[in-house]
Amino acid sequence: MNYDTYGSNAVELAIHLANTDRDGDPAWAGAFLRAHDEWFTPETVLDLTPSESRRAAATADLVRAVAVAGSQDEVIARLNELLALARPHPYATDHDGELHLHYARPDAPAVEQLTTTVAMGLSQVVAQHGWQRLGVCSAEGCDDVYVDTSRNASRRYCSNTCASRSSVAAYRARRRA
Ligand SMILES: [Zn+2]
Ligand SMILES: [Zn+2]
Repeated sequence: MNYDTYGSNAVELAIHLANTDRDGDPAWAGAFLRAHDEWFTPETVLDLTPSESRRAAATADLVRAVAVAGSQDEVIARLNELLALARPHPYATDHDGELHLHYARPDAPAVEQLTTTVAMGLSQVVAQHGWQRLGVCSAEGCDDVYVDTSRNASRRYCSNTCASRSSVAAYRARRRA
């Protein structure tokens, strides 16, 4: 699968957003935006109002809902909820030296750039590569979501950390047996 495109990178942004811990920290959204500031046009204000933070949280929840959905009907329903939050205004740019598309208008508020980029990136990857490419980590105690970019769609864990933790646990269980 050709994964080296802007839309595919945007799905990684969506996955990071869905996996970001929001518990007890009202500043989580601003911190997330600053950690991913390469996605926003330079003039963008990355401090969010409480209502903008709630919009970012709603986007994160919908990305997760798409990833955990167990049927194509449910994927379509959740994707359409997510796309309804997007305000696409695509334009071409080569700000990093390579010609590519951005999905949100450059002067949009940060939360609009975030939601639009995430919704468009996620829906393009699902439409091109199938909703089965999204999943939830199989490691015990981890419920992070992932996008499977492996050639044979064999991924089961959110990260190498979870994959090796699980294979160690499986090895110990075999030895006990
Ligand atoms: Zn760009
Ligand atoms: Zn995991």
